[in-house]
Amino acid sequence: MDIRFSDRANGLKASAIRELLKLTEMPEVISFAGGLPAPELFPVERIKEIFSEVMDRDGRAALQYGPTEGYRPLREIIATQRMSTAHMKLTGDDVIVTTGSQQGLEFSAKLFLNKGDVVICESPSYLGAINAFQAYEPKFVEVSMDEHGMIMSELENALKENPNAKMIYTIPDFQNPTGKTMPDDRRKRMAELAAEYKIPIIEDNPYGELIFEGTVHPAIKSFDKEGWVVFLGTFSKTFAPGLRLGWICASPEILSKYVIIKQGADLQSSSLDQRIAATFMQKYDLNEHIEKIKEIYGNRRTLMLECMDKYFPADVKHTNPYGGLFAWVELREDLDAGKIMEECIKENVAYVPGDAFFPNGGHKNFFRVNYSCMPEDKIVEGIKRLAKVLAKYY
Ligand code: PMP
Repeated sequence: MDIRFSDRANGLKASAIRELLKLTEMPEVISFAGGLPAPELFPVERIKEIFSEVMDRDGRAALQYGPTEGYRPLREIIATQRMSTAHMKLTGDDVIVTTGSQQGLEFSAKLFLNKGDVVICESPSYLGAINAFQAYEPKFVEVSMDEHGMIMSELENALKENPNAKMIYTIPDFQNPTGKTMPDDRRKRMAELAAEYKIPIIEDNPYGELIFEGTVHPAIKSFDKEGWVVFLGTFSKTFAPGLRLGWICASPEILSKYVIIKQGADLQSSSLDQRIAATFMQKYDLNEHIEKIKEIYGNRRTLMLECMDKYFPADVKHTNPYGGLFAWVELREDLDAGKIMEECIKENVAYVPGDAFFPNGGHKNFFRVNYSCMPEDKIVEGIKRLAKVLAKYY
């Protein structure tokens, strides 16, 4: 069929990795590939009860259209309870509700990128963001990371060398895919650079609250004096991704543009789901729920890192995340994690090969592992299976 797709659509390719990842869904596979929260931690009973309560109290409004900006009580809760790391006095007017933070990513590209504009991001970066941005046909300039995330002198060089850079995309806390976290001085420096070069930062922060040791880091937004930082938040990892609720916190000038874009995309996020989330947080303490999640994920993280140290060949390296969902494994430079994955599937274990997280390709000797959604016995068994495959190459 001669379908005349847009140039944009013609540029979209189904990724090879998606095909590979389908195999990881077979029940016999111990998959460290997904990025899913542990389903046994979802507060199902409480949400059942809240659902009835919302329907009894507010059923008609919950099934009706609502404002594009979001359900007012939820916006207030986000501004006053969930944005404390921004260290700003916020009200519900400073945030809008989105359909997950993924929507915030897509909207950011639509808002800031013309074809050929440069997006500066960490090397590697979140695959879902790379894909969302790619539809707007930008160029990606990847900035190297050390163990503490993006290196600020290299960011500054990238800004100098790319006057057509239109946004900086960063995941400062427990980054997907590496699990790395930026120290506070880098956050401050990044905010200063954004103001100096007059470029927005998209601060994507789904994992910051899932910190296993120490206290939550201040957001880059907390160092933002002029309004260059757009903060994307989400309830996906702290509450339930199925509700598809996230938010954007930005200066009024920028936020009003996001609202217009959202009107065109979906008019609003679900009236019902927003009421469920707001009522849940009015009645229960989400922080208490987050404490439970952190304890379990923290234990799974410790176990996975210990198992990798114990069973993997000695010179396989991994990051040591102290929060979030992921660790990042580095193999010898000549090895290809994508090819090795085919053997892993035969052993019924899976990860995500790392090259997909580098928007300009290359870097085949890495893979990402998730520790949040596997029980402890499967973590041990899965890492042993991976170790058996890796041993053939070392
Ligand atoms: N950003 C990052 C870094 C992520 O890892 C994810 C989900 N894996 C998202 C955004 C999107 O999450 P959601 O749309 O569920 O909020």
